[in-house]
Amino acid sequence: MSIRYPVAAPDLSGNELRYAEECIKSSWVSSQGTFLKRFEEQVAAAAGTPYAVAVCNGTAALHLALAALDLGPGDEVIVPSLTFIATANAVTYCGATPVFADCDPETWCIAPESIERLISPRTKGIIPVHLYGHPCDMDPILALARDRRLWVVEDAAEAMGAMYKGKLVGSLGDMGTFSFFGNKIITTGEGGAVVTQCERLNARLNLLRGQGMDPQKRYWHNVVGFNYRMTNLAAALGVAQMERFTTLVEQRRRLARWYDSALSGVEGLTLPVEAQGSQSAYWMYSLLTADEASRDALRSGLLDTGIETRPFFYPINEMPMYAAAPSDRGCPVTRDVSYRGLSLPSSSYLQYSDVELISAGLRTRLKPSLSRLRKAG
Ligand SMILES: *Cc1c(COP(=O)(O)O)cnc(C)c1O
Repeated sequence: MSIRYPVAAPDLSGNELRYAEECIKSSWVSSQGTFLKRFEEQVAAAAGTPYAVAVCNGTAALHLALAALDLGPGDEVIVPSLTFIATANAVTYCGATPVFADCDPETWCIAPESIERLISPRTKGIIPVHLYGHPCDMDPILALARDRRLWVVEDAAEAMGAMYKGKLVGSLGDMGTFSFFGNKIITTGEGGAVVTQCERLNARLNLLRGQGMDPQKRYWHNVVGFNYRMTNLAAALGVAQMERFTTLVEQRRRLARWYDSALSGVEGLTLPVEAQGSQSAYWMYSLLTADEASRDALRSGLLDTGIETRPFFYPINEMPMYAAAPSDRGCPVTRDVSYRGLSLPSSSYLQYSDVELISAGLRTRLKPSLSRLRKAG
């Protein structure tokens, strides 16, 4: 059966082709050209920050942000256990140790109480991840950071356009990072960005992105930098995507409301919450099933009819290379939601009729298994 409903496919129906053609016809395909500057301005605006630095992917964005903060061996950084592996790996690239915090049982984002339990004399910073598009509870996180003199880098790879108490994600911490991979809220194929309010950090990010080359003296290098530049061709796609950014986010929020109403009251499902004061970007409409077995049965049943779903991330502190890293008591909440969690098709272009069809697929597959359970019990 071919996939009729992928979990998240891009919408490239705007000026993407036209701008890419413009790059090729003008031969400005590499990392110089007019689209890059325009894209960085659009990203800064979408994050509510004065500065944005475009890079080649979201993992590089995280690494660049941490390198700009001079993170190094002996340092610890508190990250959630429930996230994409890149969040932890970026810390490891710097020679530092990721320390794994547990998540909130309602929003599945990093729990501030868990962060507090993990702070040690070696802790340098916190990377809250706005998971599946929902903003973390930033006030207590920022208060902790202020009290203990820690920096905060928001991993907003999945949440561009989300708001916390009226502020855009990316603008809340010292820096914020985005990913523009093909399944993210907007895409440049592969791509990422770091945003910041701080002029000094912006200069440092620009320096390290371009091999650490002295801006005053070409081919003179005072520091070990990276080539993390984005191409103008990728930025051309990004500019076209950003022209429709507000609509793309609104469509995802509308999709979430449709799923909420189509699935409310279905036994065996826990629907996502939007915390008071938060506006999720609903990168992926995600929910909890009763247990791992029913989730996996549901997934394969839906796939038989061409509906792709995605399991939640596995707890990173259970993976071999991080099993010995410190964690908050093994992160029991993460463990629980990770094995029950599921994301539904969430492409911005889906219509109400698609949501009805997908939701009907879930309902019919949940009823029989529950009644069987009752009989057995
Ligand atoms: C996608 C993602 C990244 C990494 O982005 P890439 O562009 O794939 O390198 C980092 N963190 C989170 C939470 C992500 O979802």
